[in-house]
Amino acid sequence: MGNDGGSIAKRNDIINLYKKEAESNNNYEDDFTVYTICKLSKKSLIDKPIVSDYKGNMFLKEEIIRFLIRKGYKTDESFSHIKNLGDIIDIKAKFEEGKLICPVTKASNTFIYSRNCGCVVDKKLIDGLIKEEVLSCPNCDKDLEKVDIVVINNDKNNDLNYEELKSKGLNHSKKPKKSKKSKDSTSNQESTTIKDSERKRKVEEDHPVKKITK
Ligand SMILES: [Zn+2]
Repeated sequence: MGNDGGSIAKRNDIINLYKKEAESNNNYEDDFTVYTICKLSKKSLIDKPIVSDYKGNMFLKEEIIRFLIRKGYKTDESFSHIKNLGDIIDIKAKFEEGKLICPVTKASNTFIYSRNCGCVVDKKLIDGLIKEEVLSCPNCDKDLEKVDIVVINNDKNNDLNYEELKSKGLNHSKKPKKSKKSKDSTSNQESTTIKDSERKRKVEEDHPVKKITK
């Protein structure tokens, strides 16, 4: 990342632009509770540990852990893609006066988070930064990759990004997916060890005389 003076200035300009836009735009989503309610339990998310899946659904962390323990993915079709902790990410959401807001621009309309840092920020600001190729999180400054962007409560682009990760053998939290391959190589190793010990025994059987003479 080229964090020279020029790109920092550019970044600040873009941030200021979207801050102003958010200030002048008070037309909040009519139903902002879509950003404050756990998709699983319908309980309030405000000031609680929150996680999200690749689809951008927000959940109370404790509810998802309970869901995983009771293997809810076997029966709940809407969330059947959440099978282990690798399928969720801890996210950092800021709430003010009962609304989800961007910590940078204070906008309250549309949001994204980055898989890399989990900061929930103004989608318009991110679109603006990407357009100018300033690829770092405006909240924490960590690197931002397009493939890591998850739109909150939106499916289409999230699916495409997730497909890209899957094609690289990664899950939502960007850890390698467990595959049968690694299991096989372990059993191969075991059989090699067995063969080795068999060979060793055979060698000893074939050369008993040598041992005695020594
Ligand atoms: Zn961040």
